[in-house]
Amino acid sequence: MKTHFLKPGDNKIIIENLSNLFLEDSDLHIAVAYFNSEYFADLIIERAKKKQKTLLILNTSDLIRPKEAGKSEIVISKALIKILKHEGNYIFCKSLGLRVLGNYQNMHHKFIFTKNKLFFGSLNLTDAAINRNFESLLETDNKFLIKDFYSEFGKLWNIGSELYSDRDGKLRSIMCPKCENSDGVDFESFGPICHMCGYNFIVD
Ligand SMILES: [Zn+2]
Repeated sequence: MKTHFLKPGDNKIIIENLSNLFLEDSDLHIAVAYFNSEYFADLIIERAKKKQKTLLILNTSDLIRPKEAGKSEIVISKALIKILKHEGNYIFCKSLGLRVLGNYQNMHHKFIFTKNKLFFGSLNLTDAAINRNFESLLETDNKFLIKDFYSEFGKLWNIGSELYSDRDGKLRSIMCPKCENSDGVDFESFGPICHMCGYNFIVD
């Protein structure tokens, strides 16, 4: 078991360690609340090109976020949209948690693993986490721990909702903050707009 502590500034070696996990052949499982890192989005897309499978679970309430603290403008991360556009045979995304009339349920896990290695700690896959935050991360190849996290991931996966459906091309689970409906959120056909009420999402 190895411990890693990130701090604002240079986390190059730690990120390199974590990135190596993304280069493994075996299935990559990611459960993080929030994802906005283009760096990791690109690694996931590279995996798909090499026919390596990635399964990603995110927190529903964090799919859309205020652009700045206290502001009402809502953004979806560019990195997430990028991944969802490649969703298919090798990238699978689900979200878990609720954001209904102020009733919050959060998927607050942060763990990433293959059958060989597990990272867990405080790290979301965000630019802030890898560049600007104080974070802790444990790295282990302990088979028993990996098995436990694998089993937990399976439970989350079973109750998560698909974030993207090929069939109708809709980005489901992303609720429009104005009309509180997810049926009108279909970025493929009309761009980042809710076509139930016309709300414009900002992709950032
Ligand atoms: Zn709407």
